[in-house]
Formats: sequence, structure tokens, C-alpha cells
Amino acid sequence: MVFGNMGDDSGTGVAFTRNPATGEKEIYGEYLVNAQGEDVVAGIRTPKPIATLKDEMPEIYQQFAEICQRLEDHYRDLQDIEFTIEKGKLYILQTRAGKRTAAAAIKVATDLVQEGKISEEEAVLRVDPEQLDQLMHPSLDPEAKVEVLAKGLPASPGAAVGKVVFSADRAEELGKEGEKVILVRPETTPDDIHGMAMAQGILTSRGGMTSHAAVVARGMGTPCICGCEALRIDVDAKEFTVDGVTVKEGDMITIDGGTGRVMLGEAKLVSPQIGGAFQTILEWADKIRHLQVRTNADTPADAARAREFGAEGIGLCRTEHMFMAPDRLPIVQQMILAENDEERKAALDKLLPVQQDDFYGIFKAMKGLPVTIRLLDPPLHEFLPNAEELLVEITRLEMSGENPELLAEKQKMLRQVRNLSEFNPMLGHRGCRLGITFPEIYEMQARAIFQAVAALVKEGIEVYPEVMIPLVGHPKELEPLREVVVNTAEAVKEEAGVDFSYSVGTMIELPRACVIADEIAEHADFFSFGTNDLTQTTFGFSRDDAEGKFLHHYLEKKILPENPFASLDTEGVGKLVAQGVKLGRSAKPELKVGVCGEHGGDPRSIDFFHQTGLNYVSCSPFRVPIARLAAAHAQLKNPR
Ligand code: PEP
Ligand code: MG
Repeated sequence: MVFGNMGDDSGTGVAFTRNPATGEKEIYGEYLVNAQGEDVVAGIRTPKPIATLKDEMPEIYQQFAEICQRLEDHYRDLQDIEFTIEKGKLYILQTRAGKRTAAAAIKVATDLVQEGKISEEEAVLRVDPEQLDQLMHPSLDPEAKVEVLAKGLPASPGAAVGKVVFSADRAEELGKEGEKVILVRPETTPDDIHGMAMAQGILTSRGGMTSHAAVVARGMGTPCICGCEALRIDVDAKEFTVDGVTVKEGDMITIDGGTGRVMLGEAKLVSPQIGGAFQTILEWADKIRHLQVRTNADTPADAARAREFGAEGIGLCRTEHMFMAPDRLPIVQQMILAENDEERKAALDKLLPVQQDDFYGIFKAMKGLPVTIRLLDPPLHEFLPNAEELLVEITRLEMSGENPELLAEKQKMLRQVRNLSEFNPMLGHRGCRLGITFPEIYEMQARAIFQAVAALVKEGIEVYPEVMIPLVGHPKELEPLREVVVNTAEAVKEEAGVDFSYSVGTMIELPRACVIADEIAEHADFFSFGTNDLTQTTFGFSRDDAEGKFLHHYLEKKILPENPFASLDTEGVGKLVAQGVKLGRSAKPELKVGVCGEHGGDPRSIDFFHQTGLNYVSCSPFRVPIARLAAAHAQLKNPR
């Protein structure tokens, strides 16, 4: 037992051998004179930065610096060290690998490689893919004009915007409603974890860089400012004041955890960039990994961003998102509401050039890389207005009697909406079933794809189109639809007088498709597992209802270890995936197989897909770097 509270020649502190927020090689930490360890972590007194110890106790500081170096050399990693000085004598209480932000993890790992202490592979393993998410958070737009209210300690980097709340319960409540909140507290305790987890950012008026709020926020990757002493927080009145300005619960603020600035209002944030050490780690990961990483993108802008993040193609372009744009929706509605083939054809003719432009932009942004375009998938009623809203409008028009033509149009629309309504739309008239009943829709889409391809080929741009048919459960569904696509491609080649190559594949997202994958493979050049629908149909859980209604009970009661829509249920759904891969390749050994459900960006699922022998994963643009690193981890742990 040693005592740091034996007078002014005693003290206690916590220090890191490198900066845990940035990774910079400098001793970083804080201490309190005449105090015990508890006083530092509790955030009751704001400690002094360790640099001051150099002036206050130069010999002790020197000795401490030497010990830091020795411990770090021994463990070959950043250390988090607790120490006490009792009457002028230094004692080391504890050392362990220090928790760090993603930015620090990357900097420390790459620096240690440069210092010859660890290998590139070890460096890659030192960065947790899930933690990279922190770096993919927005930061403050340097051009933004901001009104700085106060400045505190920059405890966890990243910028966040949200409504001010003063309790963890309220943060949780609003967070669950989808609101963005900043949790403001004098200090936090372990009782606040539930609210901290839901908050976009955390701001405290007391405590240092190793206070509870700072440590937890860094671990969660949540932007955080601590020890912002200018804030006068009144938790009961639900407000804080600073320099005569009062901020109440629900008011918007912006915090920048990288600089410690607290700002009034909603500042503009900008998307993250990849550079420096981050780029280096990802390049090392790319050398290691076997899985390719593609992106799910529906616009040229998303495609271009994903490419900057290292995407090696598009694994899923959902064409329905293009149909939803306000300038297209009326034409799409015309197509759906058509009462005969002629009317439908007129609407499709209008959609064709619009879709062609979309595809042209996407192919161009991804030039030289494969692009998988999925033909129309969702139930058609998703494009039509809501029946109740229509009914209200019809009643209003009937009562006013002012616009009989509009009334007739709305009544027709309501009839169609009712005709198209289904008891279980996710199991209803969607996916390839639409292609079977309305082949002209798929034909129009295929034509738009191939005309865009032909135009680009003429410009000398390399394109690798892959056309994907969704929700196939029977080879006889795929066979005729493949024919529609192939015939269209050949017709376009002929008309345009150019040659191009393309492939036609299918999504595997129904249990039946997994168990007869060999038969399906006969008609497919590639498979892409749609693990969102496959999870839905394997569990019999409705994707749209499970998460909101009962899944959290399943997680609380530990019936399921994890949300199966976020992390693949490897024991159930995963078995079907593995079977699908095996059967598919038994019929077609060269079959290219990927995944484009949400799981394609989840590190644990990526590990499973690696082990199952997939060729690629496809995920949202911001998860591409995470997937690149996770794929390298998978290879290092289970070499393929
Ligand atoms: C899937 O089902 O996993 C998939 C990618 O398709 P969507 O989410 O569009 O149904
Ligand atoms: Mg699907």
C-alpha cells in the first residue's frame, strides 16, 4: 500500500506511453498532487496534465519517462500506466495495453512497424475493424461558420450534432425514437451507460481525459468533451448556462471532440477522408485478404465515394431506389396503374431513357470494375400512395365537388392500391415474380442497362455489367427471365453495332434456393446471397417488424446472442449459405459467389463468408474500409 496523499511531495496519476486519442508518440496523462487514484478517475477534481510534472518534480518525471519506454518496449504496445508518488518516491501500480481511439490504434500500429517492433500482419491485427467505424464518422466542415460557446478537453474525437438532454434515461428514450442527442452531464457514472450508448456525443463539465465519460466514449467511438468547466449545468431545471447564454433540453448543439469546442446550433459536418496511416493499414490489409470488397450503391455519387474508400465494384445496385425519385415516381405510377399493355408500354418508354442515364452514370463512375444491377424487386404498391391518405383526399374532393377529374383519378388510384395490397407483401408479388408477370418491366430495365453499356463501349470505357434477378426460388423462374435479359442484350448489340460481354446471375435469398442451388446454378453465372431476406425467410421473422416489436426481448432474454439482421446467424442461416455455395459450385465449379445483404459489412459475418469460400462481400460505402480490414483479419486467422 502506497499513499499519494501524504503532502505536496506526493501524488497520483494515470499516463499513456502514447497519446490514446491521436497515437502521437508522447507521454500523455494527468496527475493530482496530494491525492489518491480514486480522485483522478472519479472526475471530482480536474487533474493537471503530465507535462506539468516535468516542472514540479523533474527527477520523478525523468524516471517515469524511462519506465514508460521500458514497459512499451517489453510489451511492444501502447501502455496505460497507473502510478503513485509517496514522499518523493515513484511507484508503478499497474500497466496494461491502453484503450485507444481508432485513429490512435492505426497510428500506433503503423509507427511500431516503422520502429521495427512489430510486423505488418501484427499491425493489421492490432486495429479492430469494428472500431474503424469511428473514423468513418463526420467531422466539422472547416468552412462552417460556428459560434463557439465554450471549450473543454478534447476527450474523444469526431463531431456530433444533436438535441441537448440532461439524463441518460432521456438520451435513451429519444435515441430509440431515432432522435440525435448530446448527453450533457456534470460527470458520468457507470449508471449512465445506456444513455451514453444512444447519444451522438457526450459533454461533461467536470473530469479529465481519463474520467469515466472520456474512457467510455473513446471505447464506444462517440465524440466527447470533458471538463468543460465554463458550463453551469442545472440537471433539475434541464438547462445549462455559459456566459449568459442558456441552453435548454431539446436545443441543438454541435460538439467537436477533436478540439473540445462546444457550439450553438447545428453546424455543417463533412464526410470522412482516408489518408496517411489509415491508408497504409488498409493497403497492408489488401495485400493479405482473399475476399474482394464491393459496395452497395444506387447513384454515381455513392459509387464514386465507395471507390475512394477502396470498393472493387458494385455488388448491388437497387434499381427501385431510382424509381422513387420525385421526377420518376409519377411515370412509375403510370406504369403500375396502366389498364392495358399499350398504356404500360407508353410509361415504360418514358422510363427507359431515364434508367439508361442512371446506369450510364453508375457504370462510368465504376469504369473498369464489375457492376451488379438488380432488376426490380419490391412489391409494386410501395410506389403508390397510402390508401388512407387517398381516402381522405377523395372525401375532401367529394365534399367540395370542385375537381371531378382529379376525383376520378384518385378513385382509380385507390382501386389499384387496394388491388395491389397484400397481406404479406415481403412474401408477395415481388422480386422475380414481377418479372414473370410483367416481363416488359425487366425487358425495359435490361434494355436501359445494355444501351448504357453500348454507349460507354463506343466511348472506349471499360464496363463489366452483371444483371441480377432477385428472389428466385425455382430454376424455372430464372430460366425465362435469363432469356429476357440475354435476348435484350443480343438485340442491343445488333442495333448499336457494338460487342460487349455481360453476365446474368441471381440473388440467393430464399431457403429453397439454397437447397436446390445446383439446379439454379445451371442458369446463373453468379450468385449473390441476399442475407437480409434469407434471414427473414429462414427465421420466419418479418424484417420490417422484428426489430421494432420483439427482437430486443429476444436479445435481452438471450434467446439470440445477436440481432440476426446485423450479424449473420451462422448456425442457421449460415448453414444454408454454406450449402448454397457448395451445391452451386458442384454444378458450376467456377461460379462466382458474393453477398450483398447488410451482413456484408459486419466483421464477424465477413469472417464466416471468408471461411465459406465466397469471392466477395458487398456493403454500404462507409463500411468498405471496415470490410477490407475484416477480410484481412479473417485471412490471418484462417488462411485460405
Ligand atoms: C437482401 O435481401 O439481403 C438484399 C440485399 O436485398 P434487399 O435488402 O433489397 O431485399
Ligand atoms: Mg432481398
